[in-house]
Amino acid sequence: MTKGIYLLSGSNLGDKNANLEQAKTLIQSHIGSIERFSSVYETAAWGKTEQPSFLNQVIEISTSLSPGSLLNIALQIEQDMGRVRVEKWGERLIDLDILYYNDTVYSSSHLTIPHPGIPGRRFTLVPLVELAPGFIHPLLKKTNEVLLEECLDPLPVNKIT
Ligand code: ATP
Ligand code: CA
Ligand code: CA
Repeated sequence: MTKGIYLLSGSNLGDKNANLEQAKTLIQSHIGSIERFSSVYETAAWGKTEQPSFLNQVIEISTSLSPGSLLNIALQIEQDMGRVRVEKWGERLIDLDILYYNDTVYSSSHLTIPHPGIPGRRFTLVPLVELAPGFIHPLLKKTNEVLLEECLDPLPVNKIT
């Protein structure tokens, strides 16, 4: 069982809050136990700006799945929830990314851990810092808190209450 695995869940289509909830239910039943999860944050769409805003949440899990199996099951959950891949950064019911797998550093054509988007994305760093400000990025050797301070992403990230 590996602890200290952080996933980012995101949705910008349909009932976004319900999609985040359903993703957590499917994570519990197919991936492992949810240790903690962050507040839900809203961000204007990133990358392609002419689409609805995103809701994002970071989920800390523990699982006995390897990184590769974790990715496959996460992609399967996206499929089961009805995600249709149309274009990179397009609208989606649910997006499940692996941010950190403990202190693992891994890179293949299908999977990069830590997720390369972390340092450049405020919508990822803000919920990460809520859960794990002192967690050290295993490649950059900086805490999430420092990565957020140094992040140049201008898009505002607002906590949903
Ligand atoms: P981004 O990864 O920049 O946030 P995205 O989430 O919109 O973009 P997707 O279309 O959801 O991109 O995923 C494309 C592919 O990214 C997946 O099929 C998967 O193989 C690959 N991938 C590589 N590293 C990761 C990771 N850490 N977590 C999830 N998917 C990853
Ligand atoms: Ca993503
Ligand atoms: Ca993804």
